[in-house]
Amino acid sequence: MNRDYRNLEYPCRSRSRTMLLMTDPASQTILRDLGPVRASVGILFFGGSFDPPHIGHVKLPEAVLATLGADLDRVVYVPAARSPHKESAPTGGQHRLRMLELAIRSASNARIWTDEIERAGVDPASPSYWSVTWASARSQRPDTPDRFLIGADQALSMHRWHRYRSFWRDAVVMLRDDHDAPSMLIDSLRSIGVWDETDLEHWERRIVQVPLIDASSTHIRSCLADPQRRENPIAGLDDRVQDYIVDHGLYRG
Ligand code: ATP
Repeated sequence: MNRDYRNLEYPCRSRSRTMLLMTDPASQTILRDLGPVRASVGILFFGGSFDPPHIGHVKLPEAVLATLGADLDRVVYVPAARSPHKESAPTGGQHRLRMLELAIRSASNARIWTDEIERAGVDPASPSYWSVTWASARSQRPDTPDRFLIGADQALSMHRWHRYRSFWRDAVVMLRDDHDAPSMLIDSLRSIGVWDETDLEHWERRIVQVPLIDASSTHIRSCLADPQRRENPIAGLDDRVQDYIVDHGLYRG
């Protein structure tokens, strides 16, 4: 579907630099700040590369919202400009925004916050630090029960995240219900040596078990690099997202 996209040039936080972000001005999904979701009781933020977004990125936060109940009523995705934890640069932010918008088109309570991608326009070489993003989210929505969603892999590496002490308590951890028991994750966290028993009790309260969703962006990218496979449906990849990828020649390898 062709939509009426415009090039909107707008200033980032530096006077000397601007970035071009092509957005649909009518989009209700893309947020530049959290003002449009101010009425939300509690937001579950979900940061990631989404390169490309897959079915797990859509279904997992829904499963977590269903488990956590009344405190959280909305999901806000935060595509990373450049993850400090990944070696290679991701696909351009504009494409990832558009693919994510397509992937979540049926999720009426989901939005995409462009904060990290916009900040990268000010300093493209700088990694996206979650400490900065989360401080911005909290300052815009103080006194709310907002949380952010991470995988068990991310919980185990959180002690290496920039200024993790400032935000780790607001994390919710997804743990596959076919996989380790929560006590095993806690044991693994204990073995790292940076978390004390009070911290570990807090971690334990923040674990949510989620169903196995066998999808991974890495696997999907390798399928897309194969000329035959990229033209056929790929498990875990939304068909509209795949159409976008093929139309724009992404992930050709
Ligand atoms: P890649 O394969 O490129 O590393 P990814 O999906 O693992 O992609 P992100 O796009 O950054 O990584 O996704 C954010 C987080 O979502 C991941 O770090 C991971 O913890 C979690 N995640 C992604 N896919 C799944 C899945 N199928 N099951 C459980 N957690 C997942």
